[in-house]
Amino acid sequence: MTILVTGGAGYIGSHTVLYLKEKGESVVVLDNLITGHRQSVLNNIPFYMGSLHDEELLHYICQNHNIEAIIHFAANSLVGESVKEPLSYYENNVSGTLSLLKVMNKNNIKKLVFSSTAAVYGEPKHVPIQEEDHAIPTNPYGETKLAIEKMLHWAEKAYGIKSVSLRYFNAAGADPEGRIGEEHHPETHLIPIVLQTALGQRNKINVFGDDYPTPDGTCIRDYVHVMDLADAHYCALEKIRNENEGGVYNLGNGKGFSVKEVIETCREVTQREIKVETSPRRPGDPAVLVASSQKARDELKWLPKHPDLKDIITHAWNYHAKQSHQNKKRNVQFVK
Ligand code: UDP
Repeated sequence: MTILVTGGAGYIGSHTVLYLKEKGESVVVLDNLITGHRQSVLNNIPFYMGSLHDEELLHYICQNHNIEAIIHFAANSLVGESVKEPLSYYENNVSGTLSLLKVMNKNNIKKLVFSSTAAVYGEPKHVPIQEEDHAIPTNPYGETKLAIEKMLHWAEKAYGIKSVSLRYFNAAGADPEGRIGEEHHPETHLIPIVLQTALGQRNKINVFGDDYPTPDGTCIRDYVHVMDLADAHYCALEKIRNENEGGVYNLGNGKGFSVKEVIETCREVTQREIKVETSPRRPGDPAVLVASSQKARDELKWLPKHPDLKDIITHAWNYHAKQSHQNKKRNVQFVK
């Protein structure tokens, strides 16, 4: 039996594919390669370049690869972009998942692990955030993920599709062996931007707001290693396999770091100068997002192996520094 990973060429998807292979699983990947990278997936893994909207292709994959379960990453995932283009987020995320569920039903596939997000919570009333807290998203990205979680709830009741929704906090880091890492074009995430600044690919990092109600005025986030996220997907799959039961789980380390603390840790790891400038707040950014992942630890038996921020940043740095070295050899130029 094989696991279909949609969006398996993206950042978290590709790390999960690598991890599943290490666990001895048979895997097939579907990715439209709009934001994913073909080179992030090993050549010996069956790879389909295509869209979730292409139900014929989905059906073909299910028929030809004896699919047991689906791990579903394929989605648009930028908060700012979702505010500007909400309809394309509903189309790609909600309607894309609808196609996937229809094809699952047709092929009698009953196991799904879904990539959700902390953005479903919106502005939290208290931290750490627990799964039963109010989910009132403040942007279309979070809305689409919450809509899918609700769709999955009803799909279980009606069709018996068991699903686990994993609400990630801030994914960061890279494969500790440096084979793959985080590559977004354009990059919007804090840690890669700070590391690109350390590498001289950018002149400075803009800190989006230093007047938040936090000890140093900058936003606090819960950073979780991408390989620990990959492991959580495997744990979720095992839960459905062994207990025939799904659920909703937060994934974070339960410890928050401010933007300034992240930059300071990057300075420590890279031993490079990192120029900082304060700019206005980014719309839609809550002041503090920290997870309680007790439920995932108890029920999924998830135990993060790299909870230390310094390790997370070190793995990201090793990857970025290696990429930068290779880009220099290929004479790749960066637009600052
Ligand atoms: N951030 C920042 N400058 C940047 C990118 C991000 O100050 O160039 C801040 C952002 O406002 C947030 C935190 O860093 O408070 C983490 O942002 P990121 O985009 O990495 O993840 P998000 O929390 O939006 O999922």
